[in-house]
Amino acid sequence: MSISNQVAVITGASRGLGKAIAQRLAQAGCHVALIARSRDELTLLANELSSQHDIKAEGFVCDLSQQADIFNCSKAILDTFGQVNILVNNAGTGAYKPFMEHSPEEHDAIIDVNFKAAVHLSYALLPQMLERKQGQIINIASDLACRPLANMAVYSASKFAMRGFSLSLLREVKNQGINVGLLSPGIIDTCFNNATPGSKPPSGALQPLQLAKTVYQMLTQPEFQLIDELTIHPQMQDF
Ligand code: NAP
Repeated sequence: MSISNQVAVITGASRGLGKAIAQRLAQAGCHVALIARSRDELTLLANELSSQHDIKAEGFVCDLSQQADIFNCSKAILDTFGQVNILVNNAGTGAYKPFMEHSPEEHDAIIDVNFKAAVHLSYALLPQMLERKQGQIINIASDLACRPLANMAVYSASKFAMRGFSLSLLREVKNQGINVGLLSPGIIDTCFNNATPGSKPPSGALQPLQLAKTVYQMLTQPEFQLIDELTIHPQMQDF
């Protein structure tokens, strides 16, 4: 199934995995709406993608921890692009440190960005998908959506929630032309948790561009099959 000329919304597109997904989908001919808080990074990427590929790319500055921001941003995207075929809920935040060393505000941000933003964006963008009986949602969770890890309690909980939401919503909408897929990666070579990209060996961390290819494969799978969830670990990671 081709996604050329479709419109994809990608959250957390200013860097890391979201940026790689935006690059891969633009290469496939998708128009892309890029969401994050970092205006300069979004503008730079949108300009790069629209000049490299024959597509429309635009950045939308939005704090995904704020419900009102999310609904305003969704409306602005629909006004700009007319429709949305693909939603990739990728933005995420978290820090590897003990539960009691997080502030209550940090706990809220993890739950709001990693989980509630995906709920609100799906709520805002699903109606026009359902009306057309066509659309795809990809939710980026983590291998911590299925297993516990000390010092990541609320992060892990937000990803367990994402998994429950994604798999349940799929069962609700799959007979109405909508696919919902969950991708649960292990360690990725990004800036997440203040990491330095390139500092880990390839067998110790998944590469964003490689994972972006997996997202592309999920979005272009044959119509007779359905990937509900996919977990991928780097070879060397304990899990
Ligand atoms: P990253 O490099 O830190 O990127 C995170 C992205 O989320 C950035 O674009 C950031 O943009 C955006 N974001 C964070 N808070 C936001 C907010 N309040 N509003 C809007 N955007 C926000 O991390 P990554 O590794 O690419 O993470 C992508 C996804 O993979 C996340 O869901 C993460 O949980 C998941 N994941 C990561 C790993 C890993 O080892 N890296 C492993 C498993 C799963 P701004 O700062 O510009 O807003």
